[in-house]
Amino acid sequence: MSTQQNAATKPLLGCIADDFTGATDLANMLVREGMRTVQTIGVPDSAPQAVDAIVVALKSRTVPAAEAVAASLAALNWLQQQGCRQFFFKYCSTFDSTPQGNIGPVTDALLQALGSDFTIACPVFPETGRTLYRGHLFIQDQLLSESGMQNHPLTPMTDPNLVRVLQQQTPSKVGLIGYPAVSQGVDKIRAGIDTLRQQGVRMAIVDALENQDLYAIGAACADLPLVTGGSGVALGLPGNFVRAGLLNPQQGAKASELPAVDGLSVVLAGSASKATNAQVDAWKEKRPAFRIDPLALAGGEPVVAQALAFAQQHLDKDKQPVLIYATTTPEQVKQVQAKLGVERAGLLIEQALADIAAALLARGVRRFVIAGGETSGAVVKALGVHALRIGAQIDPGVPATASIGATPLALALKSGNFGSIDFFEKALLQLGENRLGETRL
Ligand code: ADP
Repeated sequence: MSTQQNAATKPLLGCIADDFTGATDLANMLVREGMRTVQTIGVPDSAPQAVDAIVVALKSRTVPAAEAVAASLAALNWLQQQGCRQFFFKYCSTFDSTPQGNIGPVTDALLQALGSDFTIACPVFPETGRTLYRGHLFIQDQLLSESGMQNHPLTPMTDPNLVRVLQQQTPSKVGLIGYPAVSQGVDKIRAGIDTLRQQGVRMAIVDALENQDLYAIGAACADLPLVTGGSGVALGLPGNFVRAGLLNPQQGAKASELPAVDGLSVVLAGSASKATNAQVDAWKEKRPAFRIDPLALAGGEPVVAQALAFAQQHLDKDKQPVLIYATTTPEQVKQVQAKLGVERAGLLIEQALADIAAALLARGVRRFVIAGGETSGAVVKALGVHALRIGAQIDPGVPATASIGATPLALALKSGNFGSIDFFEKALLQLGENRLGETRL
C-alpha cells in the first residue's frame, strides 16, 4: 500500500488517550471516517508506517495529575516528532475524572505546549447514549449523576454539569457552547468559539445530541491545534483533512484492511461490567467456558494450569474456542474485594488472565477476544504487543485489530460495557472471517 492514499506522507492527526480501550474506541472512529490508524501502547520505540492517524494509549485516567501531565506531554512530543498537524486528547464519554483531574490539568499542559489559547471539551457519543445539553451530560435517559456513574469506585461522577466539573479541575476559564448555537451548524459554532475566546475562555464544553452535531463541531475545530473529547467528536476531524486536500476521500473502506491471521482462538473476560456479564451468560449457554475463582487464586491453587488444561482439551478435540472468565455479579465482586482488597483482587485476576494468554500464544492461539479495559492492557502487555493496526468495527466502540510485529495477532479489545449480547461470537467471526466451528478457528 503506498502513501499516495495520504497526500501528505506524514501522519495528520496525533491522539493521546487516557486509557487503553478508550484509545481503541477512538481509533475505530477514525478508521470509519477513512483514516488509516495505528494505536500504540504508550510511546513506542519506532514510528508506524503508512498511517494517517496515530493514537497513543496511556494509562493516565486515575494516576496523580502530575504523572498524567508528564505522560501526556511525552506522548505529544513524540507525536510532534512524527509530523502530526493536529492533536486530540481522548477521555471517556462519561467524563471519568476526579475533582483533581486529570482532564483539566492535561488539557492545560497540552494547550501550553502547543502555544494555543483555546480548545473544546465534548464527550458526546450518541451511538452509546451519551448526549450533552446545556452543559449537562446524559447517559441514555439519565443524568450522568444518576446513571450509576455516581458509584464508580475510582471516578464517581456526582455532578452532571460539565462546565462546573471541568472548572474544578483547572485555573483556566471554562465556558459553554450550547445547543442553540450547535444546532445551527458550523458557522454558529465558530462564532461561539470566537466569542468565548474574546472573553478569555480557554476551554469550552460543547453541547451535542446527534452525529450531525459532531460533524459540525469537528468542522468548526479545523484550525484548533488541540481538540479534546470522547471518541464521538473525532468523527468530524477526518473531513477537515479531506477538505484541505491532505486525505484521499476514496480511501474509505481500505483504511480498515487488516492482514489475515491464521491460528486458534480464545475469549478472555476480566470485566465485571453489566454488558460483559450478559455476554458471558450468553456464551455459556452454547459453548465451553472456564471460571477463574479469585479466592482459589489467592489461596495458591493452580488455577492458571487448570484453565490451560481446559482450553487445550477443547482446542485438541475440535479447535473449539473457549471462554476463560472472572466475570461475576457486582455482589460477588464486592464479597471478593472485601476479602482480598480491591486492588489485590483486580491484579490477581489480571495477572492470571495475562499468564493464560501468554501460554496460549505459545500453543498456537493467534486470535484473542478480550473483555475489560484494565484486563486488555494486562493481556496485550503479556502478549508482547506494542502497536495495533485498527480494522473494521465489530460493535460501536470496538474494532477488530491486528498487532504490528513479526507474528501478527488478531485482537478484539472490548471496554466492559460495550458490545451486544452475542459480542464474543461476532468478534470471533470477524477476526477469523469464517464461520464458528470451522477449522481455522
Ligand atoms: P471494565 O472495562 O469492565 O472496567 P476492567 O478490566 O477495566 O473492566 O476492570 C475490571 C476489574 O475487575 C479488573 O481489575 C478485574 O481483575 C477485576 N475483576 C474481574 N472479575 C472480578 C471478580 N470476580 N472479583 C473481583 N475483581 C474482579
